[in-house]
Amino acid sequence: MKTIGVIGGMSWESTAFYYRMLNEGVKARLGGLHSAKIAMLSVDFDEIEALQASDDWVRAGEILGDCGLRLKAAGADFLLIATNTMHMVADQVEAVSGLPLVHIADATGEKIKQKQFKKVGLLATAYTMEKAFYRNRLEDRFGVEVITPDADDRAEVHRIIYEELCLGSVLDSSRDHYLACIEKMRAQGAEAVILGCTEIGMLITDNHTDLPIMDTTAIHAETAVSWALAD
Ligand code: GLU
Repeated sequence: MKTIGVIGGMSWESTAFYYRMLNEGVKARLGGLHSAKIAMLSVDFDEIEALQASDDWVRAGEILGDCGLRLKAAGADFLLIATNTMHMVADQVEAVSGLPLVHIADATGEKIKQKQFKKVGLLATAYTMEKAFYRNRLEDRFGVEVITPDADDRAEVHRIIYEELCLGSVLDSSRDHYLACIEKMRAQGAEAVILGCTEIGMLITDNHTDLPIMDTTAIHAETAVSWALAD
């Protein structure tokens, strides 16, 4: 089994889910007392959030690249950046560390392709919904059309992630807002919705909507387990 190098803490709320999902995934595949081989470095999200807000992605990439190098020294065979947003700097992390990386958009795109969805809605941070690094990757590599809520709804989706979910707060009023966004995107032809932020699974599950949901945390962890167990 390969060792998974997790760059976590963005936020730690979702990294805790990754830790559980990676171990459960290995246990489901190998049974018994098997568990995942994991090396993890967890950053202080306050520092990373400040760099995001000041548009200093280069510095943020240096910090995560350094994490990648330290995980390599700790025996990691490949990396997992446990957040969608910070895939902004995925190429930099891969280059600095010299380790392959399970890209969260590729893992999600593969799943979308399997399901043959042609048009999907995306709920995520404003960075992920509005910058090219994520949507274009899905559109260019997997031929799927990605739509997002309108500007006011995007701002509220973003606020809820940083002011509530990353702080462990799960509010019914926020769930209602997310569900309203999902319904609007369904009305525009979305066949599924990507939960493109690793904390959204705390708020929305398939118990809350009958539109298929693509939970990037679960998909990313499942793909990492496959990498860890591949020959
Ligand atoms: N975990 C979130 C994501 O998947 C947001 C936190 C971050 O900015 O990294 O995008």
